[in-house]
Amino acid sequence: MSAPEPKPWIMAIAPYIPGRSTTDDGRKVAKLSSNENPLGTSPKAREAFLSAASRLERYPDASGTELRDVLADKYGLDPARIIYGNGSDEILHLAAGAFAGPGDEVIFVHYGFAVYEIAARRVGAVPVIAPDSDYATDVDAILACVTERTKIVYIANPNNPTGTYATKEEIARLHAGLRPDILLVLDHAYAEYIEGDAEDGGMALAATAPNVLVTRTFSKMYGLAAERIGWGYASPAIIEAMHRIRLPFSITIAGTAAAIAALGDTEFVEHTRAHNAKWRAWFSQEIAQLGNAGLRAVPSQANFVLVLFEGKLTAEAAYKGLMDAGYIVRWLPGQGVPHGLRITVGTEDETRGVATALRAMVEKAG
Ligand SMILES: *Cc1c(COP(=O)(O)O)cnc(C)c1O
Repeated sequence: MSAPEPKPWIMAIAPYIPGRSTTDDGRKVAKLSSNENPLGTSPKAREAFLSAASRLERYPDASGTELRDVLADKYGLDPARIIYGNGSDEILHLAAGAFAGPGDEVIFVHYGFAVYEIAARRVGAVPVIAPDSDYATDVDAILACVTERTKIVYIANPNNPTGTYATKEEIARLHAGLRPDILLVLDHAYAEYIEGDAEDGGMALAATAPNVLVTRTFSKMYGLAAERIGWGYASPAIIEAMHRIRLPFSITIAGTAAAIAALGDTEFVEHTRAHNAKWRAWFSQEIAQLGNAGLRAVPSQANFVLVLFEGKLTAEAAYKGLMDAGYIVRWLPGQGVPHGLRITVGTEDETRGVATALRAMVEKAG
């Protein structure tokens, strides 16, 4: 052997592809490809972030006490059941690292979040893909994939890239159908966007069940994607296992300060929620009007809409046309939806602009 050989399962990982922010020719355009907050960040969070500049020589608190206490207080949780990480991505990886290994099986849905497959493969586990039902999570299909080797089921609810939402009853049915030794990870990255304060009961399950982990993030609703703060809620035994493999200082002082301030800025959060609900509905309605041309918006409870192109205008052509018009969205051939674009709900101008550009392309395609 002439060089170190990566484990074979590592080379089987298809690298994560982040949302783009520039066009093919390098122009800077409106970025609607990563589900970031179009209204920016809470001014209170920005201020807290800046104030942390006076403490750059210090290590962060490795037990995250203040963040856990503030989260526990806000949501009525036990701080001992909270873990935090470098984005919720880190928590998703910690779950696989602590609970799955070579030969174990990890289930997620076909139109799912790319990180689950990477997290599973990274530890040598076998990804098992459950089919969806018209783009929505299909509990029976997931349960049918369970074998004696299953160790983890990952579900994003609402789901990315589809935006679909599995109800509390569906999640309860899924949980009831899983053996207690299978970890159910409920990824709540978009939970704050669900209409009418509905929720899937995940936090209540995680408070009592020995096998449920809920993950949450400051990257979306709280507008702090740059600062990489996520957290998780589960039984003390699950949390304790994940702590053993966590990087001790995975979140920064400035990011933590920003997150704590963002949690307290209910005005910013409510403003974001109302903006998103309004323009998500408006945009979905616009797409519905293009139904004759084969466009369809999958019903979304998140901060983006999956638009399917089933007529003359293809998703690829629309992706390029939107880029020419100044908008980068997410085309999804890598996620099994080459006929779909995932479009983040932007500012009013951006959302109207995307709808206008799509309408023009539809008319041109005839
Ligand atoms: C954006 C997103 C996350 C959040 O990632 P962070 O690491 O917290 O920024 C997690 N899960 C899903 C499904 C997402 O879309």
